[in-house]
Amino acid sequence: MDMKVNKKLSLKERYALMTRDLAWTPTYQAVNDVFPYMEYEGIKIHDWDKFEDPFRMTMDSYWKYQAEKERKLYAIMDAFTQNNGHLGVTDARYINTLKLFLTGVSPLEYMAHRGFAHVGRQYPGAGPRVACLMQSLDEIRHFQTQVHSLSNYNKHYNGFQNWRHQHDRVWFLSVPKSFFDDAVSAGPFEFIVAIGFAFEYVLTNLLFVPFISGAAYNGDMGAMAFGFSAQSDESRHMTLGLEIIKFILEQDPDNLPIVQAWLDKWFWRGFRVLTLVAMMMDYMLPKRVMSWKEAWEIYAEQNGGALFKDLARYGIRPPKGWEEACKSKDHLSHQAWNVFYNYGAAAPFHTWAPSEKDMEWLAAKYPDSFDKYYRPLWEHYTKEQADGKRFYNGTLPMLCQVCQIPMFFTEPDDPTKISYRESEYKGMKYHCCSDGCKDIFDHEPAKYSQSWLPVHQIYQGNCFPEDVDPTSPDFNPLAEVVRWYNIEWGRDNLDFADSEDKKNFEAWRNQATSN
Ligand code: FE
Ligand code: ZN
Repeated sequence: MDMKVNKKLSLKERYALMTRDLAWTPTYQAVNDVFPYMEYEGIKIHDWDKFEDPFRMTMDSYWKYQAEKERKLYAIMDAFTQNNGHLGVTDARYINTLKLFLTGVSPLEYMAHRGFAHVGRQYPGAGPRVACLMQSLDEIRHFQTQVHSLSNYNKHYNGFQNWRHQHDRVWFLSVPKSFFDDAVSAGPFEFIVAIGFAFEYVLTNLLFVPFISGAAYNGDMGAMAFGFSAQSDESRHMTLGLEIIKFILEQDPDNLPIVQAWLDKWFWRGFRVLTLVAMMMDYMLPKRVMSWKEAWEIYAEQNGGALFKDLARYGIRPPKGWEEACKSKDHLSHQAWNVFYNYGAAAPFHTWAPSEKDMEWLAAKYPDSFDKYYRPLWEHYTKEQADGKRFYNGTLPMLCQVCQIPMFFTEPDDPTKISYRESEYKGMKYHCCSDGCKDIFDHEPAKYSQSWLPVHQIYQGNCFPEDVDPTSPDFNPLAEVVRWYNIEWGRDNLDFADSEDKKNFEAWRNQATSN
């Protein structure tokens, strides 16, 4: 008798059997009813099977692969905790970058998890659906591992305890929050372009990499470990984002102008979020990896340039705000940290003026701008602080209606002039920080006129704890807003020089290194 031998399936065959062959075309219900969001954005897809999955991973190999990563990561995290690894970081100032990361970035990972679960459900194509499911699982893993590794710092330092509460309330956290809220409230095609392109491509290289190499440079093995563990997923995400964009463009010529408008919009939104990263790199890291300007030149001008050359054959041109973004590289971080120094009472981390040594570094990295425009400012603040008059701004800034950042950006060709743009919608005036944000507003005013702007909300009286009486004579609005933020006055906020974090870190490190 002849024996029938099943030959081992190739990866491609296995993938096809385990994913696409499990999909079917509905007959009891109309396809449009099962996938109701497929048409209203105007994107036309003729053949979903044309989508080539870049990784061809089956679910069982996905679990195996990810479980291995988790085992390694948690072993490193345990070792870090057991050995008081937090005392090995360069300086307690560094820990403030982790607070910024946990409050500003980790909640976005969770939103990415939700967003990909949602769009995965909306696509009729089995290929993108499986890829979105895996990305959704990756993102919740990123969120969990970040919370787990940063919880170790929460045992020893202030400002980590209320990150979730703060993400929905604190003035500057509305910048990353509104970025993701904007994406998840868009249609499924815009979401995938927004996140696959702006979040994974523009932001990953310029946000994740600097944070994580910053961690490595400053001796933080805990954050470094979660960073590398997430980074191996990121390469899959970037590829997915790019493949979907190419797929959409290949499906119908009518898709080109829609996708181009999304790339313009999401490049600018992503770039604005990077403001926080720029100041982190230049001012918050005690030991710096490279300047923001250098990072921009490598990751945006060189790598981004290559990406747009690749997309040019589909008719895509570089995004609208590209030149303006490049022009701002000499100014962005300095202007941003100045605002945080001003509003250091209302942030759940510490701020400080750069030291003379820091300023020498900044002057060397920014020969065209630092000494001329920014050094005098810091010297003034430092002098005031030495005289016991550390400056805290008691007023509130106007915010951009779109990116929600205080209006401190300057005109692309004049760093001494604040850039203001104004639009009108239904008899109301709206303010934007740039042509990029104004374009976004003017294209969808019904959406952005609804923005929850922290400063407007404070002035409308919506950001005070319930037990306050704003009419009482000793009412202190700033203190009450800070209380509503769950920021503990004097512990979580104000200048690093006087902080409990600084004192504790020095005392503990002395204990660990001498008797
Ligand atoms: Fe992620
Ligand atoms: Zn703006």
